[in-house]
Amino acid sequence: MTKLLTFVSILLTANLLPAQGQVRELPRKGFEQRINTYIDTMKIVDTHEHLVSQKGIGRSGMCDFMLLLHQYSDDDIKSSGMSKPTFETLLHDSLTILQKWQILKPYWENSFNTGYNRAALLASDRLFGIKELNETTVTELSARIKKAYQTNWYKTVLKDKCRIEFLINDDTDRSFGDPTVMRYTTRFEYFRIDSKRKIDQLSKQYGAPILTLDDLVKSLNNDFDKAMKVGITVIKSPAAYYRSLYYEDASKEKAEEVFNQILRNTEKEIPFDQIKPLSDYMMHQMLDLARKYHKPVQIHTGLQAGDGNYIMNSNPALLANLFLKYRDVQFILFHGGYPYGGELASLAKNFRNVYIDLCWVYIISPTYSERYLHEWLETVPANKIMAFGGDYENVENIYGHLLFARQIISKVLIAKVKDGYFSEKEAIRIAQMILHDNAVNLFQLK
Ligand SMILES: [Zn+2]
Repeated sequence: MTKLLTFVSILLTANLLPAQGQVRELPRKGFEQRINTYIDTMKIVDTHEHLVSQKGIGRSGMCDFMLLLHQYSDDDIKSSGMSKPTFETLLHDSLTILQKWQILKPYWENSFNTGYNRAALLASDRLFGIKELNETTVTELSARIKKAYQTNWYKTVLKDKCRIEFLINDDTDRSFGDPTVMRYTTRFEYFRIDSKRKIDQLSKQYGAPILTLDDLVKSLNNDFDKAMKVGITVIKSPAAYYRSLYYEDASKEKAEEVFNQILRNTEKEIPFDQIKPLSDYMMHQMLDLARKYHKPVQIHTGLQAGDGNYIMNSNPALLANLFLKYRDVQFILFHGGYPYGGELASLAKNFRNVYIDLCWVYIISPTYSERYLHEWLETVPANKIMAFGGDYENVENIYGHLLFARQIISKVLIAKVKDGYFSEKEAIRIAQMILHDNAVNLFQLK
């Protein structure tokens, strides 16, 4: 009896205690529905895609059910056991739809659980009305995809369904898409110069021989000028795929030494640890240009897509010296830093010039995204969070990813209103900021 009384009194006390971090009155009835509707119907800015043209996909050998699985899902399918060459055969016309499915089936059944594959399934359901992938559905799904590509499909998905007002694309092809919507990010490939062949390639682009480090810097300046003339919104560095994000202050002499060594070594590629001073030096050159032209810099941090890599290379905390040195350059840290969400919070809180971008991350893990969005909204000023980038090559998966994102953002904001951490009005304001206004302001989109 005593035990029962104690239990009841604990329950009663728990109910009387304010929720964690309660600041606001508890909300009016129906707030969940109102927040959901606002987030589901609002226009958004998509800060990062690798979109390829509708024509290109229509003509490719994967304009069938594999379109939904060719990117990111492919990582999990391979991680579950399929070899890379086998996966490649699924992306061509040489096999029938059912042959492709028979090869894929055991690996799909191994990996249907992951965020990548759940998002692909959601896209299949919501865009094509097919809820399961199996031998009885893949032919019909493929026919529906092909049919969609005969229509103005990109407009239907991006504008009507996703309600994307601006989309920043990481691709050099500017021949497609609504020009009022499309914006661009550009990469400058100067951080992995490890062979004479690469210098020769750059010389060709530059239109003059590159014989000294000064020439190389001039070539970068020239690329930058060209990009500025065509019009770019932001710069992107994917270097965490092949090097550590720790960029030392390499001296010009040291960089010159490496450059000359590469020029002399005509035969083979030089290992990265030997060329690092040149790579570091060129990053500083690029940041000087970003500063000069007032362009923000998007940096890949966290998980690298693909088959095998060094996760510790991509820890965003390694960038702190750059944030300190380039106080007036805005650094946007990609992918919610997965799995370095805590480090990301500290950096964005601590540095005025550091921003968080959640592109790609909802499909890596919905739970991680939810957990860290909670934390980031408690630790980081809301103007520094950009909450959506699909990071996909095709519109179907952008849509699936965005459905995940809207659900998770709603869930987090509803929980925070329920706890009295935000009022309903504040939650709506945050959604508007993180899904739209922050990107418009930072990238000067209007
Ligand atoms: Zn990307």
